[in-house]
Amino acid sequence: MTSYKELGLVNTKDLFKKAISGGYAIPAYNFNNMEQMQAIIQACVETKSPVILQVSAGARKYANQNILKNMARGAVEYAHELGYDIPIVLHLDHGDSFEICKDCIETGFSSVMIDGSHLPYDENVALTKKVCEHAHAQKDYVTVEGELGVLAGVEDDVSAEHSHYTQPSEVIDFVNKTKVDSLAISIGTSHGRAKFKPEQCTRDANGILIPPPLRFDILEEIEKQIPGFPIVLHGSSSVPIEYVHIIEKFGGKLSDSVGIPEEQLRKAAKSAVCKINIDSDGRLAMTAMIRKVFMEKPDEFDPRKYLGPARDELKKLYSHKNMNVLGSAGQA
Ligand SMILES: [Zn+2]
Repeated sequence: MTSYKELGLVNTKDLFKKAISGGYAIPAYNFNNMEQMQAIIQACVETKSPVILQVSAGARKYANQNILKNMARGAVEYAHELGYDIPIVLHLDHGDSFEICKDCIETGFSSVMIDGSHLPYDENVALTKKVCEHAHAQKDYVTVEGELGVLAGVEDDVSAEHSHYTQPSEVIDFVNKTKVDSLAISIGTSHGRAKFKPEQCTRDANGILIPPPLRFDILEEIEKQIPGFPIVLHGSSSVPIEYVHIIEKFGGKLSDSVGIPEEQLRKAAKSAVCKINIDSDGRLAMTAMIRKVFMEKPDEFDPRKYLGPARDELKKLYSHKNMNVLGSAGQA
């Protein structure tokens, strides 16, 4: 059993409190390799932003949970070495059972998500409550994120064809019964890089897909029900068209890519939304740079020569998100 405090990590409690009163959101960036972790820490140290390092079930399988835990410990030391100690959370993304949450808590995660959103309401309540009781009883309080409503799209082991918006009438009961620390809701964001079908969108003069707007009316209704309670948005990549174009220019094919416009996320971050999950944009940035190097320098075979530029681009992307989208820059 490792406590997250031994690793130099923090839970989300204070971070969310400050984020809500300050009108910004904490970035939650997924990672499963060294270059991603370095880019996240470089960007967040440089912009002085707190950060949530997120590990999905798929990442645990790919990279091994003990390696990821020690990378998080390394991240804390790396930030220190770069000259500025930022608060770092290690969070399980989309835990789907009590056992996986318990396992992560024992490994040293400071925060876990239990996603019972696919279950009937009462079963979601029971499962989330069980995880909260366990996580909150630890010597060092581990924070828990629950979910109400279902997001469409595909993300590692999580997929759903149709979304169901969160019912504002259920949130008070859910929060009171489970004692969850934060709540992921569904207001029109979606997992993956093709967040909407073309028929759900309109097109601008250049033929670029314009997605339907987020349901801010539902968000407002939820905030009225549970004022000041930390809200989380999943599936909040913006899918920058520049990266899609680079990928397609250098041999890739990503038809009908569309994300959530950054100005809508900025608006959400000013509300009780205090954690915004971004994964696909990082994947696009890395893939764009790697494809570019492969096409422009066909004789290159040193992984550092294509992972290096990918890491630099990722860092640029994360700094931009912290400064211009989430508003978390300067808050660490
Ligand atoms: Zn998610």
